[in-house]
Amino acid sequence: MRTVEAIIKDLKNIADDPKKAMADYKKETGKGAVGIMPVYCPEELVHAAGYLPMGMWGAQKKQISKARTYLPPFACSIMQSVMELELEGAYDDLEAVIFSVPCDTLKCMSQKWHGKAPVITFTHPQNRKIAKDAANVFCREEYAIVKEKLEDILDVRISTKALQNSIAVYNENRQACRDFCDVAADYASVIKPSDRHAVLKARWFMEKSKHTALVKELIEAVKAQPKTEFKGKKVVVTGITVEPYDVLDIFEENGFAIVADDLAQETRNFRQDVPVDADPLMALAKAWSDFDGCSLATDANKPKGQMIIDEVKKYGADAVVVCMMKFCDPEEFDYPILLQEFEAAGVRNLFIEIDQESTAFEQVKTRIQTFAEIL
Ligand code: SF4
Repeated sequence: MRTVEAIIKDLKNIADDPKKAMADYKKETGKGAVGIMPVYCPEELVHAAGYLPMGMWGAQKKQISKARTYLPPFACSIMQSVMELELEGAYDDLEAVIFSVPCDTLKCMSQKWHGKAPVITFTHPQNRKIAKDAANVFCREEYAIVKEKLEDILDVRISTKALQNSIAVYNENRQACRDFCDVAADYASVIKPSDRHAVLKARWFMEKSKHTALVKELIEAVKAQPKTEFKGKKVVVTGITVEPYDVLDIFEENGFAIVADDLAQETRNFRQDVPVDADPLMALAKAWSDFDGCSLATDANKPKGQMIIDEVKKYGADAVVVCMMKFCDPEEFDYPILLQEFEAAGVRNLFIEIDQESTAFEQVKTRIQTFAEIL
């Protein structure tokens, strides 16, 4: 059996070098990659076509300059970074880029994309809870258009059987990721916040059955270790992402373990399976209408706060850390509601800002240090 460190190293290498992951995939299969803009794309369609879906989550940039021509300075930090990378040619090798457009910034981005790869844009219905059947029909049609455009661009046919198989592959991966998160919470003294993140981020750059195999191997290796008591504080994090490693390292240096997350980049993608349906496009549509707990998926009942509070109770967490993507309107609009709910439930909480244009993390460090002392 390989060691925990060796398996995490493999996953971390993939998470840290998407370009190489893409080149390796091409070498192995002869097929390229399709860019998946955040958030909630029916990636299974790309998988069923035999191409590699690649997450596009930006990167830490010392300076954003070119992107300012197309985006105002108050557009969210992650899209500033994605636009900068695009203008630098980082995404030129992609075969296509798929956009869902649940916020104003993504709408602008999809229209201002200048990369070589053709853009496929689709809309998620937002009235999915009050008119579920109609929303499902609409969403299915949107996915059918994405499928048709993908088939044209990639010159492949995506069969019903292939799509059903891809949904099964993804559901197995979702289960493996949920299992890993539970094991990471259980072995908080073994799995550091940065390890947890690397394992989950790697899934954006790997063929999913390969990621599943590595995650399952990791779970077995972790479980083979003696369970030692974690003496630090346990937190649940919420937001779009918690990156870069510098920020995760600050959690670790201050004795925090991340025992659960509600991140758009992590758990929100595998919290639930795609249901079984004879029509796989309808199955994907139903998964969207069932989806809960994200600022990008409208629900007048606002279940997100209670969902996070439930996670705090389930994992015996000491607090919630709200990791706010700088200038992310949808998440910012939900924050006052979350804050009131946390306070009413007696859940201690901290707010930090995630900025992909930052190279100094002193403010985050001070806030987390102080919070650790308060706890
Ligand atoms: S971070 Fe927020 S504002 Fe930016 S693209 Fe994502 S949802 Fe939209």
